[in-house]
Amino acid sequence: MTFKEIFNTYNYEQIEKEISEKTSSEVQIALNKNKLSTEDFKALISPAASSYLEQMAVKSQALTKQRFGKIIQLYAPLYLSNECNNICTYCGYSFDNKIKRKTLNDQEIIEEAKAVKALGFDHVLLVTGEANATVHLKYFLHAIELIKPFFANISIEVQPLDEEEYLSLQKAGVYSVLVYQETYNKQNYGTFHPKGKKSNFDYRLETPDRACKSEIHKIGLGVLLGLNDWRIDSFFCALHLDYLQKVYWKSKYSISFPRIRPAEGVHEVQNPIHEKELLQLICAYRLFNPDLEISISTRETPHFRNNVIRLGATSMSAESKTNPGGYAVAKESLEQFTIDDNRTLSEFKEIIKKQGYEPVLKDWDRVYSDSYAK
Ligand code: SF4
Repeated sequence: MTFKEIFNTYNYEQIEKEISEKTSSEVQIALNKNKLSTEDFKALISPAASSYLEQMAVKSQALTKQRFGKIIQLYAPLYLSNECNNICTYCGYSFDNKIKRKTLNDQEIIEEAKAVKALGFDHVLLVTGEANATVHLKYFLHAIELIKPFFANISIEVQPLDEEEYLSLQKAGVYSVLVYQETYNKQNYGTFHPKGKKSNFDYRLETPDRACKSEIHKIGLGVLLGLNDWRIDSFFCALHLDYLQKVYWKSKYSISFPRIRPAEGVHEVQNPIHEKELLQLICAYRLFNPDLEISISTRETPHFRNNVIRLGATSMSAESKTNPGGYAVAKESLEQFTIDDNRTLSEFKEIIKKQGYEPVLKDWDRVYSDSYAK
């Protein structure tokens, strides 16, 4: 059964009801288990679990230490383009926003890569909007060749691609693909994505399958927190993760928690998730899946990021710029969203060390990959 077939057997409203009806005793049962089901995950993200946050955090900390040690892997996003043909009602790069568009050329890509490397990063996440005429597979492959000499680990967060395209990226040395469903609420997905290729809910839903089939090492999932009820969307994301892990057991997985941030044309968040709830969600994922990499971006506040170092996070961005050219060549171009933690990489490394954890800038090299050997 494909994930789409599994997904279509569920009812969004029914899941909302089931989560809201979870009881304290169901939360306690989940807390005492070693191997959790998606039903247990529902209990841990339910309102009933909010009074068990301390126990969840203690267990999340212990499981993370046991599986990953006391480390935080650090990476930087590198925006290559803010061109986009989609209309997404929550994003500063939306096609209908009259902003100055920029796609980095060869020289600019190299300058940005040098600037990111000079900060100390060895892991980089390439990000673009979805403009298929200018920012396409050929552009990505070329950009990867240009930046390869600077970084040990390259991830991408771009438009959903076909399986053969992911295979080309894997062969070019891409380590991971991040693709967020944004929301699993098929009924109102179209309201947030009224125009462009992204309005195809099913194609996006099946993207992780295509990336996994091409043997990309790691797949990053997530939902855009703030679009719909975070509990229901996160349940479906956990269900998706569970399916992928069972079918594509050779791949690694990570989860991110993008929260809608202020951006050009974005005025109001309909379904905000508060910091305490976000921590509950992070701990729930850790208890549900001890192998899962948990990634926290600079969208979050310094205070929250400081705390989550010990409570389940395994990878974090730092000193991020969310605009193409933001590190060196066009510092004033429009950001995709504003960030909350403006500390430098050096400052953040010190924070990690003060908590008894080790900041890790490199934990991978392309020589380990099959494509390098071929
Ligand atoms: S979220 Fe992505 S696809 Fe949507 S407008 Fe922004 S950059 Fe484009």
